[in-house]
Amino acid sequence: MQYTEVMARYGELSTKGKNRRDFIGRLNGNVTKALRQFPALSIKPKRDRLHLVLNGENADAVMNALGKVFGIQTYSPVVRVAIEDFEQVKQVALEMVNEGASEAGMSFKINTRRSDHNYALDTNDINLAVGDFVSEARPDLKVEMKRPDVKVRIEVRRDAFYVSYLTIPGALGLPVGTSGKAMLMLSGGIDSPVAAYLALKRGVAIEMVHFFSPPYTTTNALNKAKELTAKVAAYAGSINFIEVPFTEIQETVKENVPEGYLMTVQRRFMLRLTDKIRAQREGLAIFNGESVGQVASQTLESMAAINDVTATPILRPVATLDKTEIIDIAREIDTFDLSVQPFEDCCTIFAPPQPKTHPNLERARYYESQLAVTELEDRALAGIKVSKIYPEDKFLTRGMTSDQIADLL
Ligand code: ATP
Ligand code: MG
Repeated sequence: MQYTEVMARYGELSTKGKNRRDFIGRLNGNVTKALRQFPALSIKPKRDRLHLVLNGENADAVMNALGKVFGIQTYSPVVRVAIEDFEQVKQVALEMVNEGASEAGMSFKINTRRSDHNYALDTNDINLAVGDFVSEARPDLKVEMKRPDVKVRIEVRRDAFYVSYLTIPGALGLPVGTSGKAMLMLSGGIDSPVAAYLALKRGVAIEMVHFFSPPYTTTNALNKAKELTAKVAAYAGSINFIEVPFTEIQETVKENVPEGYLMTVQRRFMLRLTDKIRAQREGLAIFNGESVGQVASQTLESMAAINDVTATPILRPVATLDKTEIIDIAREIDTFDLSVQPFEDCCTIFAPPQPKTHPNLERARYYESQLAVTELEDRALAGIKVSKIYPEDKFLTRGMTSDQIADLL
């Protein structure tokens, strides 16, 4: 089928006025970014949908990229036929029926809508004329009104007919950026990349904050977090990656805080630093990959003892998901295989054998107050590095020998 355009229907768009304009404007910008590798494509935003005129670009490749853009409910590849050329509409409809109903006994339906009511034929005339043409060519098929195997839609507008038969589910959600900006705490694990994807899905423009502790953690662990960011960036166009040196804080905590509270105090530092970075960069909230009860740091008591350091909203998109449900999403967004590669991150290395699962808030505060919190944090903040990561970026194989690459596979 030689498609001429792809029509995308807007997703959840209950708001009106200025919000609607923001939504459409932002979606248009995000689609343009996601489809920048197709130079001939032209994008035309309309009130209730977006038209992507292919101008010779490959429809499947375009739809593949479009399928990752949040804010789109469904999309359809469409053939445009000039308004003088009704005979051509019949041919296109037949081709579509042939594609969708290859076996004898299957069923079809022609469904016409007119926005140009001046056109000579009305919707019934068109349905009949096209239906008859298809039936003659395919006498083995039935016409079925309720649940046809193929439904060919014909839209009559002033300039042309628009013919389609496929409706493909879009990524849903809200256009990235329409919900403001937030920081996402990214480890190298399975959960936080999934949390990142879910935050983007609700329209939040995220920036990744990643703590690393050289020489205890390797360059590979850092590159793994960057490569995970590249995977997630497929849903955002690009994502800023903020790396925070955490070695001095972890060493200091390890030396000075009783073992049962190591984890809680470390996490309080992480959250407080993320919150400072958020304030500097004018983010509105913090996302993380915590899931209730999954590990010691994720009991409600633990969350309370860690969350104590800030009043900023902390959002936990995977809080109520089971690990298997999180893994399903990780596979869908293609982060799983990377997440399970064994590069230890800073938390695993400094994890005490038996962290308190029910830490006491007052004690956590007390142990922490014995440390030079502000100075430690200022030094960490002075060492942060920010880089912009794009979906095509690769980090893990850079500078590795072929043996090392083979070890990863
Ligand atoms: P994940 O699979 O995301 O690593 P997890 O179940 O392994 O999660 P933890 O390692 O305890 O749980 O981390 C809980 C959350 O804390 C992570 O989801 C992430 O948001 C944040 N976090 C942990 N380690 C780091 C890190 N090195 N840098 C930034 N954030 C981190
Ligand atoms: Mg982890």
